[in-house]
Amino acid sequence: MLHIDKLQVELESESGLVRALDGVRLSIERGETFALVGESGCGKSMTALALMRLLPENGYVAGGEVRIGQGRDQTDVLGLPESQMRGVRGGRIGMIFQEPGTSLNPVMKVGQQIVEAIEAHTALRGEAARAKAVEWLTRVGIPEPERRLDDYPFRMSGGQKQRVMIAMALAAEPDFLVADEPTTALDVTIQAQILDLLKDLQREQRMGMLLITHDLAVVSGMAHRVALMYAGQIIEVAPAEQFFSAPRHPYARALMRALPGGDRRGAPLEAIAGTVPPLTQRFTGCRFAPRCAQAMPHCAGTLPDLIDVAARHEVRCLLYSPGAPAAAAQVVAAAAQPAAPRINLATGPLLDVQDLRVRFPIRGGILQRVKGHFDAVAGVSFQVGAGETLALVGESGCGKTTTGKAIVQLLRQISVTEGRVLLEGRNLLELQGEDLRAARRQVQIIFQDPFASLNPRMRVFDILEEGLAALQGDLDATERRSRIERLTDQVGLRRDALGRYPHEFSGGQRQRIAIARALAVQPRLIVCDEPTSALDVSVQAQILNLLRELQRELGVSYLFITHNIGVVEYIADRVAVMKAGLIVEQGASTEVLEHPTDDYTRALLAAVPRLQAAL
Ligand code: SF4
Repeated sequence: MLHIDKLQVELESESGLVRALDGVRLSIERGETFALVGESGCGKSMTALALMRLLPENGYVAGGEVRIGQGRDQTDVLGLPESQMRGVRGGRIGMIFQEPGTSLNPVMKVGQQIVEAIEAHTALRGEAARAKAVEWLTRVGIPEPERRLDDYPFRMSGGQKQRVMIAMALAAEPDFLVADEPTTALDVTIQAQILDLLKDLQREQRMGMLLITHDLAVVSGMAHRVALMYAGQIIEVAPAEQFFSAPRHPYARALMRALPGGDRRGAPLEAIAGTVPPLTQRFTGCRFAPRCAQAMPHCAGTLPDLIDVAARHEVRCLLYSPGAPAAAAQVVAAAAQPAAPRINLATGPLLDVQDLRVRFPIRGGILQRVKGHFDAVAGVSFQVGAGETLALVGESGCGKTTTGKAIVQLLRQISVTEGRVLLEGRNLLELQGEDLRAARRQVQIIFQDPFASLNPRMRVFDILEEGLAALQGDLDATERRSRIERLTDQVGLRRDALGRYPHEFSGGQRQRIAIARALAVQPRLIVCDEPTSALDVSVQAQILNLLRELQRELGVSYLFITHNIGVVEYIADRVAVMKAGLIVEQGASTEVLEHPTDDYTRALLAAVPRLQAAL
């Protein structure tokens, strides 16, 4: 249904010509789900945009072919005039994007939007199109479809909006569907429903599907074939089963070993050193060579082609070229890591949260008077031991982030907080003035988005010094500088980073700065609020390793807020599961994750896509 050959996309940028795609070749059959995976910036979304001719203004196709359809029905997508291309987009090629909230028109009823898609791409008009829209809303599982047609998008939940997007994309009965991170913005139980729905509809309609995602576990449950991209090229393509059970490219193997999970507990994750090379350069050798643990002397000076290694399995790596030393012998098994000693939890709780309740005022009317209260946290109790990691898990809106912020005392001005938050026996909720400042030193927080949490106008040195000066006024300038330099070493940043601004760093480096800032005042407890969910797998591995090492060195405790069960299995000693402001189950993480007793925990765990990587 789709053939892409030697596709080249270039972007003009301030730093020069970016060769975003370099010779991408793939084909997708009717009824096949083909997944394009890779870390951010590797070119997977650019491939989708190029085939739909939706490249950014500074981008253009510099070469290659894109064809959809078969035989006499085949269309040369890149050669079509834009007027005909509009019929192809949304007609023969359906599209679903990550954020349904921004893809739907907020001022148009959802029914109108679906009807518009049907009328634009099929022969149905008026009442017949409306009846078709009702039929599609029913098929995508929206209850009371006739009534919901007249709702605006804001009245729907994220999962419902994504269902509407799917209905819109499929109502035109496309040959082919492009789904770009279709469930990334959704909670895990909704994600499971949407993935099942997509799978069923795709089978019924016999559509080809290009699934783009960074989540390997989602791919393993959905795709027939997988292509891994790196620096603008496909570097491995294989049937999904083979890709996950026997990946061949050194990058693919390293990525699988970087995934956190229970089986990796106690050992560092494999972090892939270095970063993706800038695509402004002309390559004369393998793009992965500077980071490859198996690089050979000629890798830096030879451009590798895709090589057949098994049926429908190709790899772009010189280890597999004819005449190379036997590839299998080159594959270094992951070094067995000695298990780190687990922390002794018998030392009594560092943090003891008792019946914590957080209520936010609901305001209304012209004077914005308080009309009532909303209980975000409705009475939770848990403990965190010294040097221990407790994971707080649950879906968005369950109250886990509010609990974390209440412990760090970030909600004092805007909420009513009740209960007791005892840090080494002292109730943080009752402290004022100097006592509160002293307690704040003990409990720090790291957020999901390191960019938003770092002041863009301050240099890294000033960011780190700010907290020190505020919370540890007894240190003089020389002591502060030497502590800051030690911290930069500890979190793995170079000392010259201190003179630079946050925007000059990658996401992973910015998270290191945020961790250094939290550590600057030598806290006993750090609330980590989804600290790795915005990061790529290889960078996530670096940050998880760093947090683990710092815990071992400094004995700091973590309250780890996350929805990623693999991360929980890897890093947490104990886990507490939250639902609607309450903890429904807590205990040792192996116990809760392997033998959950609560129905909600069971449903949550069942919805998590699992990847049994062979490495
Ligand atoms: Fe590593 Fe060489 Fe293969 Fe590139 S070609 S992935 S450097 S072994």
